[in-house]
Amino acid sequence: MIEKFVPIVGEDAVDSVFKIAEKLRGISVLHVNSTPKGGGVAEILSKLVPLMREVGINAEWKVIRGDEEFFKVTKSFHNALQNGTGQLQGNSFETYKKWQEINLSELPLDYDVVFIHDPQPAGLVTQRKKGKWIWRCHIDISNPFPPVWEFLRGYVERYDSVIVSSPVFGRDDLSVPQFVIPPSIDPLSVKNKEISRFTVERILRKFGLDLDRPIVTQVSRFDRAKDPVGVIRAFAGMKKHVDGQLVYLGSPATDDPEGEEVYKETLKAAEGIKDVHLLLLPPDSDLEVNAFQRGADVVMQKSIKEGFGLTVSEALWKGKPVIGGNTGGIPLQVIHGHTGFLVSTPEEATHYLIYLLRNRDIRERMGKMGREHVRNNFLTIRELRDYLMTILLTKG
Ligand code: UDP
Repeated sequence: MIEKFVPIVGEDAVDSVFKIAEKLRGISVLHVNSTPKGGGVAEILSKLVPLMREVGINAEWKVIRGDEEFFKVTKSFHNALQNGTGQLQGNSFETYKKWQEINLSELPLDYDVVFIHDPQPAGLVTQRKKGKWIWRCHIDISNPFPPVWEFLRGYVERYDSVIVSSPVFGRDDLSVPQFVIPPSIDPLSVKNKEISRFTVERILRKFGLDLDRPIVTQVSRFDRAKDPVGVIRAFAGMKKHVDGQLVYLGSPATDDPEGEEVYKETLKAAEGIKDVHLLLLPPDSDLEVNAFQRGADVVMQKSIKEGFGLTVSEALWKGKPVIGGNTGGIPLQVIHGHTGFLVSTPEEATHYLIYLLRNRDIRERMGKMGREHVRNNFLTIRELRDYLMTILLTKG
């Protein structure tokens, strides 16, 4: 499987991974996160863990469990950390601690290296025994709500190193070494591999799309940070000037309890606007995601807050220009005026939707640049190499 990267990124890039992995051959590595499916972290781990095994590392992936209350609390932490404001239930910290204890009593954590992904399982570090512990943060922690950050920081300080997705997320109130590793996509997965025009069209038709008219797509969980209502507004503004159809494809994640409520808000915002397709598909609908991204003329990721936004690289890799929110890791991927456009409001998004839909040659030029940008920076093989380097550079 890893050899299949050779034609995509060249032999030297693949070779360098094997050279680094040689130094780590046989070590045991555990990844822990909070959902097996849905969202970017599960997507990355499902690709990275098998690749680690292929280069000789005994890598495993485990998922913590929790009840509805725990995931409500962790979602409130997630929002508070990214938004800089929040409201905490009186017993949030106790609920969090209780579920760390429960998971600690169930999970064996005896590994040479433990990667803990995001805040949900961060508290497992309290009972670390052996090995290097690395906290991998996938969200924007540049402007966190202080009470939640102070609580989390107490745990983070006990790690040997921290990984963030963008240089702008680095924190100067941590004494722990920090590394910057942008996430990545797997160009060979069902979600990203080349598929035939026939398959794309078959899937678009199945969901009621008209292949003779422009298509705008956003693929995202129904989460306010992804601004689904803003996407609808931008599309409605666009419709006054150019024809088109909108597909908003979302799926649930077990660690995100707000999905249903946000879906309803979006449905309401879409009332009376023609050609809006809000699709709720199971989280493993990879072929459908591939087809909707490939079938789009323009892809949007109009997030208000974003850790990285894998969907941006997924779309750029498929040669699509992306209109992305000017936040978090999106500017690493959307280079304004080159691979797409960065926006802060629905009105700006409307402006660029109209511009792109009217200019096919610009769409194509941006799409080509986007694909090369992803090839050079955001493919799994690069992230694998960065993880291996981080293990080597982290002092246990
Ligand atoms: N995704 C999906 N189906 C959906 C919505 C999202 O498969 O209906 C995938 C998407 O293709 C991407 C991941 O979930 O691979 C979302 O990652 P991203 O970093 O964009 O956002 P997150 O959900 O982690 O905030």
